[in-house]
Amino acid sequence: MGRAGFCVNHPERPAERSCVQCHKALCNDCVLLDEGDTFCSRKCLSRYRTFHRAYVAEHARTPLVTTLIRMGIGVLILLILWVLIYITGGVLHVPVLKAISEFLGGKPFFLR
Ligand SMILES: [Zn+2]
Ligand SMILES: [Zn+2]
Repeated sequence: MGRAGFCVNHPERPAERSCVQCHKALCNDCVLLDEGDTFCSRKCLSRYRTFHRAYVAEHARTPLVTTLIRMGIGVLILLILWVLIYITGGVLHVPVLKAISEFLGGKPFFLR
């Protein structure tokens, strides 16, 4: 390791940037630029990209699953309510429920 504030490869040159993977201080000649990120070497670049891809993939997947589960529960609750209104409206002849049942088409769509 070089002195703080100086390039690890050129102790006489002030460090302009640092590697985003290993945080080594680097002068402009030693910087490896890739998509706006600075690296000290190809090894750090590929390590960083591999880690980053795994991280992004993991965090992109979780909300999608959560959304799907919530949507599924929502649809299920609506279906149960629909069936309950249909059954109670049809069997018990409660006027209000019957009206709602008729408004919804009398039967759940899957029984038509
Ligand atoms: Zn590095
Ligand atoms: Zn350097």
